[in-house]
Amino acid sequence: MLLLGIVVAICLVWQATRWTYADALDKLIKVGGERLTLYSGTLHESLSRYAYLPYVLSQNIDVQIMLKSSFNLELVNHYLQSLNTEAGSEALYVMNSIGDTLAASNWQEPLSFVGQNYGFRPYFTDAKSGHKGHFFAIGVTTGQPGYFMSHPVLQDERFLGATVVKVDLTPLQDDWREGGETVLVSDANGVLFLSSRNDWKYRTLTALSEAQRTLMLAGRQYGHQSLDLLPLDTVATLAAGQRIVRFENTLYLMLSRPLPDLDWQLHHVVPLAPVREQGQVVAAIGTVLALLILALGLYARERRQKQISRRKAREAGAIQEMNLRLQEEITERSRTESALRETQAELVQAGKLAALGHMAAGIVHELNQPISAIRTHAASGRLLLDRQETGKVRETLAAVSRMTEHMASITAQLKTFAHKTPKLKGRVVLQDCLDGALAMTAPLFSEFGISLDQEIPATPLVLEGDLARVKQVLVNLIRNAIDAMRDCEQRNLQIEISTQDQEVEISISDSGIGIAEQDMEELFTPFFTTKEVGEGMGLGLSISYRIVTDLGGTIRVQNLLAGGAQFIVRLPLVNQGNGAMK
Ligand code: ADP
Repeated sequence: MLLLGIVVAICLVWQATRWTYADALDKLIKVGGERLTLYSGTLHESLSRYAYLPYVLSQNIDVQIMLKSSFNLELVNHYLQSLNTEAGSEALYVMNSIGDTLAASNWQEPLSFVGQNYGFRPYFTDAKSGHKGHFFAIGVTTGQPGYFMSHPVLQDERFLGATVVKVDLTPLQDDWREGGETVLVSDANGVLFLSSRNDWKYRTLTALSEAQRTLMLAGRQYGHQSLDLLPLDTVATLAAGQRIVRFENTLYLMLSRPLPDLDWQLHHVVPLAPVREQGQVVAAIGTVLALLILALGLYARERRQKQISRRKAREAGAIQEMNLRLQEEITERSRTESALRETQAELVQAGKLAALGHMAAGIVHELNQPISAIRTHAASGRLLLDRQETGKVRETLAAVSRMTEHMASITAQLKTFAHKTPKLKGRVVLQDCLDGALAMTAPLFSEFGISLDQEIPATPLVLEGDLARVKQVLVNLIRNAIDAMRDCEQRNLQIEISTQDQEVEISISDSGIGIAEQDMEELFTPFFTTKEVGEGMGLGLSISYRIVTDLGGTIRVQNLLAGGAQFIVRLPLVNQGNGAMK
């Protein structure tokens, strides 16, 4: 991310620098172009201002007479002098047909042109061939550079001579220099004959060939100037007439434009440093800005990271606190749990003791009666023996053995809990068990006026088990039902037997008081009873539960909507094909 930011910043700065450089260069080119237009205008104007003079002179009668007859010399000299002063040119002069100067505006001056022969000058040869001539050269006589314009003097197409004006271009050059500009004019050979820079004057843009040098020497154009090559290396060419050059390790923009009607080129040269500086300034500002943004970014990132770590520390603290709280809660809970366990153990202990007490009371009550009866019978037996009433003694003993049988049946019930029941082997018919149970409880039905409804299949239903135990289950359930209906107005017992798959379902419903919700769960636990001491030991249902589960069945209870309770016993049936055994 950071690296990407740096790369993007570098690209942006580089692009901005490039753009600034290109823009500044464009502006420089535009301004340079405008300057070139201006300077070519002024140069053209400076030359054309004097262009008419040779023509005017060639048409002058006195000049023509002078050329024909060498008369009028003085007159023409004066005329040339005054015209020259008036026009502001450097010099005006008239040459005969072989190039000898006959009259000149400077006839009175020490370096007068009069008497000099300029027949070698190209402007003379041009005039001689009937054309106007123009030429820039360093004066042979004066050593002063100037622009020469000539016109032939013709009479009946005969060449009489040439009239010439010499224009001084140094004021123009001085103007450029004063303006602080580098303006150059090069001729067709690339010689810089006008230059606002002195050190570049009379130097060439391209190396001169021998032929060129010979030609120039013949016209004595640039006197004794050595015309050395100006070492301007072209670094880049931007367009025609637009290039970047190097001179003495400095880069310049050089704009060149040809001058109309002349074989010259006008050049404008400006240093590139400001453009480069602008680019550098933008690069510097861009870099500083990028660094600033980068620093800000780094600062923001550090801040964010600090915030994140602070938040994480806070969260860690919160988690630690939560852990501590959880730990405390766990300790608290385990404390509570152990306290509960202790309480539960105490309760179980108390419950056991209570159950034991209840059972003891029950057993004492159940056994007390026959014991005291046996004691009474033993006492009366002794009396009857004393009285020799043996018949009555026998009756008394029979009563004693009945009592002991009753006691034995009580202890037999308790034995169910004392020993493990042997593996079952026998088979029994359910209807027989029910008949036995109903026979045992028949006295109670009549005692409490209880009606009985039965719905029992005729086919004998064979179970795996023994008659005594199945019968005991049924007796217990019937007895409890009768007990529950004792104080009710409606007393009806309903016994239904049905089969389903390989099971038999025995339903015993009464119209009694029903079972309280809170007692439902404890109903089958030993010694649970709601009955008074002596009326029940709370063993009936627990014994029944034990027997039914031993036989591979289930027992459950529910209250009936109409009132009363319903006990449902399900037991597995033996396949009918195996036959029933009694
Ligand atoms: P016991 O009859 O000696 O109390 P049980 O184990 O046979 O012992 O019965 C436990 C308790 O279940 C009874 O005290 C009684 O409250 C309740 N109970 C059993 N059968 C019925 C029933 N048919 N209707 C109402 N309550 C019943």
